[in-house]
Amino acid sequence: MSTTDKWLNPSARTSSRRDFLQLATAAPALAWLPGLSTLAPPAPLNDYPRLTFYGATRQVSGSCHLLETSHGLYVVDCGLFAPDIENPEKENEDIPFNPKEVKALILTHAHADHHGRLPLLYKRGFRGKIYCTDATRDLTNLAFSTPPPSSDDERDPLFTFADGEAMLKQLHAVPYNKKVNAGKLTVRFTDAGHILGSAMVEVWVDNRKIIFGGDMGPDNSPILHAPTQLYGADCVLLESTYGAAKRPQIDYDEFGRRVAAVLERGGDVLMPTFALHKSQLIIFTLQRLIQQGVIPANVPIYCDSSSVHKANLIYDAYKDYHDEEAREFIKKHGSLFYMAKYREGRAADFLKAHGGTPSIFVSTSGMLAFAASPRHLHAMANNPKNAVLIPGYQAPNTVGRLLLDGKSPVTVNIPLNDRPTDVKITPKLEIDRVSGFSSHASGEQILEWISKFEEIGTVFFLHGDEERSTEMAKRASEMGVESIAPKRDDTFTVKNDRQTPGPVPELEKRQPAAPAAVDQ
Ligand SMILES: [Zn+2]
Ligand SMILES: [Zn+2]
Repeated sequence: MSTTDKWLNPSARTSSRRDFLQLATAAPALAWLPGLSTLAPPAPLNDYPRLTFYGATRQVSGSCHLLETSHGLYVVDCGLFAPDIENPEKENEDIPFNPKEVKALILTHAHADHHGRLPLLYKRGFRGKIYCTDATRDLTNLAFSTPPPSSDDERDPLFTFADGEAMLKQLHAVPYNKKVNAGKLTVRFTDAGHILGSAMVEVWVDNRKIIFGGDMGPDNSPILHAPTQLYGADCVLLESTYGAAKRPQIDYDEFGRRVAAVLERGGDVLMPTFALHKSQLIIFTLQRLIQQGVIPANVPIYCDSSSVHKANLIYDAYKDYHDEEAREFIKKHGSLFYMAKYREGRAADFLKAHGGTPSIFVSTSGMLAFAASPRHLHAMANNPKNAVLIPGYQAPNTVGRLLLDGKSPVTVNIPLNDRPTDVKITPKLEIDRVSGFSSHASGEQILEWISKFEEIGTVFFLHGDEERSTEMAKRASEMGVESIAPKRDDTFTVKNDRQTPGPVPELEKRQPAAPAAVDQ
């Protein structure tokens, strides 16, 4: 059966559809009365529920899905488009529906590519509740409750700090694994194992069931549970960050031995990371390797980022969301991160530690663009015994990417005499990438998750670049599952047509060469 047999897909009429969504709210009673409007509604009005994809379509950022129901409009996630796509400012400005008409929003997790434009929705008039888990609420609070540093940028900001603060009041926490009402929807949040509080959200409306997968975590990640297995739905939205790759073999010991080699030759190790989740995975893993004797005992782990420290406290607080090992760990040590040394506002103290006892520095930002990581790099660059081990994706032209590409000299921006100053450095230290700290499931794992469904309707693959999302759709189709990698603005009516999925096809033995763009 072809796609068009089963689905209404009026994407060819994108602009009229956008006009419809914008104008329907201006004159809701008139928009489709014959003779009173020339607007052509793009799909029969009683054909609900409908999904329209406004981001993360054949690309990795900007997750934003509109759910039209017989009870009105709902939105799932409203994330930022990453700066390394073409024209991100324009993409971020574009909200193709009227936020004032949105009844409620469902937030899958606290990553910027999923929640980054919530303050913009507030600014444009959205006043409904934002449903999320309690941990997602706290991590979202953390992201939007610190005023940004003043900048010389004269462009109008997308939204203000006050918009963000006002949006936070809309957050409404719901428990995992319990059916609750979100406006006229029935929803159930289940653990996605991706970052603390992340959820795959089951939604029941208009006699259909839809699963909004958000981002799915690996099934072997430290700290968190494996993603919840679900068994039936008319429609499932899933990420495709890594494409149809096999599950990577992670060798934490090998990582530990590399760190140990640097320390044993008298060098320091810098790991620039994102504040949320990647930092927690790395600190937790380093401690484990110290306990196992792979990394020498008593090595100081310095963490001078207040955002990492605050995220650590939130991770510690949600013990119910920890896996067995993490629960035992926190029972024994009082914290998942008990070896991480943090002193409020004292980054300068930690800089002085360089050249003393060999130490590990876990520091933001992840691409060495701002905060303390460029200062550490500056302090360490001249000593060939030191190493910078880079665990995350590095966008083009960032310091991290230039280092990995072997460029020299590179310019870091650090405070000198209290002024941000560009300083050229010629790195003599070891520079390398480390893998294994991913928070996304492999394609193999995602296809296995699908194969365990008793019955499944159409699967939409999002949140991956074009090649990876279409590849996942192709592979899932081979399992007898209707699968689509939608394009931006595509609209689909959710039908009641479920199949029993077949087995996972044999996948190529390639592994992703580098971390994916949103693997934060
Ligand atoms: Zn995410
Ligand atoms: Zn994401």
